[in-house]
Amino acid sequence: MQKTFVLNKNKQPLMPCSAERARQLLSKRKAAVFKLYPFTIILKEREKGDIQKVEVKIDPGSKASGIALVGNFERGKEVLWAANLEHKGQTIKSLLDSRRALRRGRRQRKTRYRAPRFNNRTRKEGWLAPSVQSRVDNICTLVKRLSKLIPLASISVETVRFDMQKIQNPEISGIEYQQGELFGYEIREYLLEKWGRKCAYCLAENTRLEIDHILAKSRGGSDQISNLAICCRDCNVKKSNHTIHEFLKDKPLLSSKILDKAKTPFKDVASVNSTRIAIAQSLAQFNLPLTSSSGGITKFNRVMQGYEKDHWIDAACVGESGSFVHISPLLAPLIIRATGRGCRQFCRMDKYGFPRTSAKKQKSVYGFKTGDLVKATVLKGKNIGTYFGRVAVRHSGNFCIDTPAGKVDGVNHKYCQNLQRSDGYAYLFKQPKEAAIPPRPKGRGILAVNG
Ligand SMILES: [Zn+2]
Repeated sequence: MQKTFVLNKNKQPLMPCSAERARQLLSKRKAAVFKLYPFTIILKEREKGDIQKVEVKIDPGSKASGIALVGNFERGKEVLWAANLEHKGQTIKSLLDSRRALRRGRRQRKTRYRAPRFNNRTRKEGWLAPSVQSRVDNICTLVKRLSKLIPLASISVETVRFDMQKIQNPEISGIEYQQGELFGYEIREYLLEKWGRKCAYCLAENTRLEIDHILAKSRGGSDQISNLAICCRDCNVKKSNHTIHEFLKDKPLLSSKILDKAKTPFKDVASVNSTRIAIAQSLAQFNLPLTSSSGGITKFNRVMQGYEKDHWIDAACVGESGSFVHISPLLAPLIIRATGRGCRQFCRMDKYGFPRTSAKKQKSVYGFKTGDLVKATVLKGKNIGTYFGRVAVRHSGNFCIDTPAGKVDGVNHKYCQNLQRSDGYAYLFKQPKEAAIPPRPKGRGILAVNG
């Protein structure tokens, strides 16, 4: 179970408590609900409490990042709360693409003469592509919000896929690269990036990839990186202990290309790690001790402890402090999806580009905004019932509510109660695998209230 965040009566964070304890406090009216997502209660009387060290651990990813709050107790390290943060990424790119197309179209139209504008497109130092910047911002926003709910002591973040310093070790030959050695995981991550995560011989992707000795060890091949390639299971079996020229005798061009690539060191390290480094740099604003580590350690820790792959589990396993960490099998991560706060479009268009809606779009209608979490108890009409979910406001005052069971349209604002204001993110719970759960409904439904 996720822990419940606890604030004292002055809104200062205390240590989180169990869901059961939170329920007791709420029923005895010693606390009140402060926030639904992430579930937080506020104590009515107490001010002080024991505070232990809590580390926020982050595994940044391109589509989703994992976040885990790990408590350091006498009994050991334990994950208190975890979340998968889904980024906007591709949405931002496609929005910018459509804006670019629109502006390009406008330039071709017969409009007044516009003098060309030069040199007004400079980029500031540290500029990142908007989709990448949004990932960095998403993570910093979440850490900032968490820091108001729980006393954070340190931050641990995966800043590189592999540790270049360990790989550049001159004594590279002779070290076992096999599974089970941390060093092997660093090498594996390095090789995966170097060979573009596909088979070097048949270019197969999204399959189980293995490390292959280009010149087999039985024929005197070394363990040096210049003799290692990544290939799929089939190619590895077929190649066996043949030399590359024997194996690819019909494709001499390919074999010489592979040999060349194997000998040249991987140069693109900086671009692989640029987002992660930007994340670490912008996390420095919290003035907390920051530890950075590599993806090799994360994977090593996760495999050694027998946890399956998920973003939040990877986050818990980040760095040296991730080597022994207890994750309850009942713990379900909160799924946080970056949604943004709406757009600046004035009105909808029909397919010819003419305005379809006449009224200028209002962001706030009767005090509600799209994305607010509402509870609606409808007493009259065709929609009689109680609904809970994200609201989409309409100018008419008849809103659309996105519930787990589907969208309900035409709910009047006077039946709605605002539970939590839109904060640019949508929330839902991922159930643990053991529990029999119904399939996740389509849309932006909220499956369960924490507790
Ligand atoms: Zn292959």
